[in-house]
Amino acid sequence: TKSFMNIVVTGGAGFIGGNFVQYMVNKYPQDMIINLDLLTYAGNLETLKSVENCTNYKFIKGDIADRKFIFELFDELKPDIIVNFAAESHVDRSIEDPEIFVRTNVVGTTTLLDACRTYGIKRYHQVSTDEVYGDLPLNRPDLFFTEETPLNASSPYSAAKAAADMFVLAYHRTYKLPVTVSRCSNNYGPYHFPEKLIPLIISRALNDEELPVYGKGENVRDWLYVEDHCHAIDLILKKGREGEVYNIGGHNERTNLDVVKTVLKVLNKPEELIRFVADRPGHDMRYAIDPTKMEKQLGWKPKYDFDTGIVKTVEWYLNNEAWWKNIINGEYIGYFDKMYKGR
Ligand code: NAD
Repeated sequence: TKSFMNIVVTGGAGFIGGNFVQYMVNKYPQDMIINLDLLTYAGNLETLKSVENCTNYKFIKGDIADRKFIFELFDELKPDIIVNFAAESHVDRSIEDPEIFVRTNVVGTTTLLDACRTYGIKRYHQVSTDEVYGDLPLNRPDLFFTEETPLNASSPYSAAKAAADMFVLAYHRTYKLPVTVSRCSNNYGPYHFPEKLIPLIISRALNDEELPVYGKGENVRDWLYVEDHCHAIDLILKKGREGEVYNIGGHNERTNLDVVKTVLKVLNKPEELIRFVADRPGHDMRYAIDPTKMEKQLGWKPKYDFDTGIVKTVEWYLNNEAWWKNIINGEYIGYFDKMYKGR
């Protein structure tokens, strides 16, 4: 019997997965952290520079929806734990082209689940989103998403994530697969792809470019610093109950306009850069998580409130210009070839 765990993190070259891989490689030097990622436009191995030479880290390029590849990989690795971050994650892209969201988010998840039930697994963890609950009205600040809130997805992205969650929980009920699901609010922090609101605002404001804000900027999101999300998943892997769902959020609700104004203030840039643009179709009004279960059952508490986390985030973008400039000018796409071809 082996003394270490093979932990496969899918989507580990993305924003949250990349932060989670670094967290796990540093925290569990005795375990093997295997980053399985297809390197779509959203996957960037430059995010993993700090761990790429660690002996307990390995990168494998591949598609979670490729059944033959996934079964061969499981046969070879016999993973103990799967943490599935791999997904198409951008709502605007899902409105343009829903099909790839079904393939990666739904077919990819069921492919992993089937491999888990064929080869056996200690834990399968699905990283989901509060967007599966739909949205809340702006005039009811007393309402929050709990784990019992019915699924009511609005966008093709969240519909695909909700379908995946249903499969994960169905595999627990039907096949007794040891699964957990977490549904987190909006994340922000280091290594966030520049098409998303906060990094977009930071990178454009630094160039004194106009800052597009949907509608009137009234939509409310509940923001969590990415490291707090990583810590929450770590706790769920250790102490979470099989077959259960955990909502993750830190009560940091802000309107989009507030978020943009806060970033401008930290950067010392003028609010005149803000431009209101036509609203996103079907735009969810408000998300807000009730994290009581995480707090009471697992003792989780976020370390950063929004005002502290946003300063850390802006500082990170200022200190790591090369990382996001390589994305904006497309150079990150060649990094895999440079680092891994011929290995
Ligand atoms: P991301 O788009 O930054 O990263 C996704 C990663 O998955 C990329 O590295 C991409 O290359 C990889 N990938 C895509 N298709 C793949 C496939 N078929 N096979 C293997 N890898 C593939 O996404 P993110 O923002 O880091 O989100 C990660 C997960 O967390 C997603 O499942 C998302 O639904 C969930 N989530 C995100 C947030 C958020 O605020 N960003 C909040 C809650 C939950």
